[in-house]
Amino acid sequence: MVRAEQVWKWFGDSDVLRGIDITVHPRQTLVLLGPSGSGKSTLLRCVNALEKIDSGLLEVDGERVGLRTAADGQLHEMPPAHLCRQRTRIGMVFQRFNLFPHMTALENVALGPRRVLGLPRGQAEAEAERLLTRVGLRDKLDAYPAQLSGGQQQRVAIARALAMKPHLMLFDEPTSALDPELVGEVLDVMKDLARRGMTMIVATHEIGFAKEVADTVAMLDGGVIVESGPPGACLVEPKEERTRAFLSKVL
Ligand code: ATP
Ligand code: MG
Repeated sequence: MVRAEQVWKWFGDSDVLRGIDITVHPRQTLVLLGPSGSGKSTLLRCVNALEKIDSGLLEVDGERVGLRTAADGQLHEMPPAHLCRQRTRIGMVFQRFNLFPHMTALENVALGPRRVLGLPRGQAEAEAERLLTRVGLRDKLDAYPAQLSGGQQQRVAIARALAMKPHLMLFDEPTSALDPELVGEVLDVMKDLARRGMTMIVATHEIGFAKEVADTVAMLDGGVIVESGPPGACLVEPKEERTRAFLSKVL
């Protein structure tokens, strides 16, 4: 489903990803842990083709992301239409919710299916209502973002991503901008998604979530995966000193 082999990414002369190898099988959840600046967001952005990798192999659904092999045998950037098609199969949820402030929850969720997938308004809104109900917001369909709590806004953002029927969901610290009492409701929606078999990559500092939901945990530091494996091993009996140091700070 997602395969990275020796992925390198640099900005100017700084190496931000230095030979990343990951595999995420269908219906599995990979949790990315690591200190600030370790490369979590950059890795997620590469998977979503928001950044182009500089070296290595990155595939989603067996297809190279961001690059293609051209007739001359060299790697070239994908044409924009192709990048758009790849991105519509991947849902992304950020730390900040980025909802359209002048649209209701229902309109925010229905917009992508109408504009990008070309669904008629009635069908897009019926689907949006179903998804908002699923994230516990049946009674907030007509609320504007400013009338919603941070946790509710983040749940709208998740419903909005799901409305595009993604094969893969990427979460970049989805709860770190929330008040502590609102974190649980967003994690519950993500746990439900995982249980339903969504394939997910989640950058988070929520160790409890990682223990409960992750099939694999990968600990990044300085653009390198220093340790990875099932959460029972990585989080309970980490082998690497850097993992232990990180866990002692966030726990
Ligand atoms: P955080 O936990 O703070 O979100 P992170 O693990 O997500 O951190 P990244 O945002 O991926 O880390 O950043 C990794 C490194 O890449 C940092 O040193 C950052 O300054 C650098 N970086 C990220 N984006 C760019 C960019 N567009 N141009 C230059 N450097 C960048
Ligand atoms: Mg980040």
